[in-house]
Amino acid sequence: MNQAIWIDTHAHVTHLKFRPNLDQILTNARDASLKSIISAATCAADAQAVVELAHREPLVKAAVGIHPNDTHLLQPGDWDLILKLADDPVVVAIGETGLDRYWKDAPFDVQQESFEKHLELAEKLGLPVVIHCRDAMTDILDLLEQRHRPLRGTMHCFIGSLEDSKRLLELGLHLGIGGISTFANKEFDALRDVIRQIPDDRLLVETDAPFLSPHPFRGKMNEPSRVAVTGQALAELKGWSVEECARMTTENAESLFRRI
Ligand SMILES: [Zn+2]
Ligand SMILES: [Zn+2]
Repeated sequence: MNQAIWIDTHAHVTHLKFRPNLDQILTNARDASLKSIISAATCAADAQAVVELAHREPLVKAAVGIHPNDTHLLQPGDWDLILKLADDPVVVAIGETGLDRYWKDAPFDVQQESFEKHLELAEKLGLPVVIHCRDAMTDILDLLEQRHRPLRGTMHCFIGSLEDSKRLLELGLHLGIGGISTFANKEFDALRDVIRQIPDDRLLVETDAPFLSPHPFRGKMNEPSRVAVTGQALAELKGWSVEECARMTTENAESLFRRI
């Protein structure tokens, strides 16, 4: 089999922007030879929607959690709903969780508390954790290293330094490579250099759709089918064939998320 089969390890398929043409988006994903899309929830209601979609549509798998930027909006009963949904067999990960210093709505201590709760839940259920980081890499690394606990999961949309990548790998995490790695600006050459040095068995590909469309679609609405575009760019960076890149990243996703 020489066909390139991809897994989009991070997307938001329940996002409002997809609502008018979700069937077409999923058809495009199938046409681009995706075998799974992991759709990450951002709040309790979204987690419910992601799980319902995953029941209807076998291409979609669910990650349930509260996005760091939504942690201040938590209502009574929301976390209980996440706990209940987390037991559903279509749920393959906990998240997205993490820390974000770019957007200021959610107080940082509320984000930290929520992040720790997600880590504990993931550990208890034996599921990987999906970590979001924006302008908070040091905070995340410090928090994770201070826990001194085994960790399975992905740093989604990784854009850190070589030192960051080494510390994340040491913790046991996989690194999700998204559209930013394809952006043409010279300033992203450093990221591409880091990605070249990430061990083959820790790389994942993702879209974060509807955000962060890869080059040459930058600025347009992203969709899961474009994981193949990012995968092609990753293959070039690594000196692999596109088929090799698809095979390796798909195997990595399957070994991390298991039920996909
Ligand atoms: Zn994110
Ligand atoms: Zn996301």
